Amino acid sequence: MQQVGVVIIGGGLAGLTCAIQLVRQDLEVVVVEKKEYPFHRVCGEYISNEVAPFLQRLGLYPDQFQPPQINKLQLSSIGGHQATMDLPLGGFGISRYQFDHFLYQTALSLGVQFITRKYVQSVEFREDQFEITLNDQQKLASTVAIGAFGKRSVLDKFMDRPFMRKRSSYLAVKHHARGAFPSDLIALHNFPGGYAGISAVEDQRINLCYLAAGDSLKEFGTIKQLEQKLLSKNPFLKQAFNNFDFLFEQPLVINEVSFESKLPVENHILMCGDAAGLITPLCGNGMAMAIHSSSLLSPLVVKFFNKPYYHRADLERDYSMIWSHQFKQRLWAGRNLQRLFGGRWASSFAVSLVRNVPPVANYLVRQTHGETF
Ligand SMILES: Cc1cc2nc3c(=O)[nH]c(=O)nc-3n(C[C@H](O)[C@H](O)[C@H](O)COP(=O)(O)OP(=O)(O)OC[C@H]3O[C@@H](n4cnc5c(N)ncnc54)[C@H](O)[C@@H]3O)c2cc1C
Repeated sequence: MQQVGVVIIGGGLAGLTCAIQLVRQDLEVVVVEKKEYPFHRVCGEYISNEVAPFLQRLGLYPDQFQPPQINKLQLSSIGGHQATMDLPLGGFGISRYQFDHFLYQTALSLGVQFITRKYVQSVEFREDQFEITLNDQQKLASTVAIGAFGKRSVLDKFMDRPFMRKRSSYLAVKHHARGAFPSDLIALHNFPGGYAGISAVEDQRINLCYLAAGDSLKEFGTIKQLEQKLLSKNPFLKQAFNNFDFLFEQPLVINEVSFESKLPVENHILMCGDAAGLITPLCGNGMAMAIHSSSLLSPLVVKFFNKPYYHRADLERDYSMIWSHQFKQRLWAGRNLQRLFGGRWASSFAVSLVRNVPPVANYLVRQTHGETF
């Protein structure tokens, strides 16, 4: 059985940025990722500038893709009323296809070991060690296990995490397209039971990504019908579906997206990114939180390996505390703000807030965002 210092389960933004920080501190790191890079993911692909200074410090800001800079938010109600506001911090647009692949290549070049196209099936903690079993029965032993396996994984089921027992009611879909759309704008358009985000990414592409009620696909039969009959009730979305040139043969679709709260440490596994908690997509902040959580966790893991007086219990306690302090309130605010989306009355109210009481709208946006770090 291969014995390593740190095994990271899942190679999305949380896992990759964690791996890069740890290998730079001379730790031996293995990342297990069930897919093969590069690949597309369901994501709005707008990253809050909260992470820009951190990425720049680590040499991980993706300048070479010339990501569009986004600093305006447009909000529209189901009926098509709209308002626009400046985004205090703003962000940039980059596809996960490019960004994750760039981070993967950087991690590889630094000496991170990858096992791809296999998934972790179970993790057991015994005698102060993890035994990690992959789907082909390959086994790894590690001192630290980091759970960066995203919003929903077979491991959540294996660990019987409480959020898995509640049925989740959201379906998420992503397209890439080309067409006329301002590169400095992120638009959030409501439709009955959900909302869609539109914003630019690199290479003159547009990301159109939405969250719809879980049973809507059953009702409309196909994604195309859902888009034509339900999403197109919003005139802005109707215009997008009629005029954009869609680039994927089929959009990417995922089911059962859950925003229930989770714990940052379970069964001694240190959870990072969405595995510790997923913020509602309308906040455009999940990617920043995934990167931010890796920046909180990595120095503690390094300390655990380097300081004999710093025990596993200290590491788990400190990470849980620091994680809750940084993110708990934002996740709660995101869940509550989401109530203003997807309903006729509520979405009109949200638009009128942006239009008539900008300081309140600004305050609400700030509740779901963090500071630069
Ligand atoms: C509809 C929608 C739109 C969104 N839009 C935005 C946005 O515009 N801006 C933003 O900041 N955030 C957005 N988010 C949130 C953002 O996508 C996530 O917060 C972010 O991807 C979290 O990164 P992560 O590394 O934690 O997880 P992920 O990026 O999901 O990575 C997890 C990885 O783990 C792998 N994995 C899972 N299980 C296993 C296993 N057992 N073994 C091995 N590998 C495994 C998966 O293949 C995956 O690659 C959106 C989310 C949704 C649902």
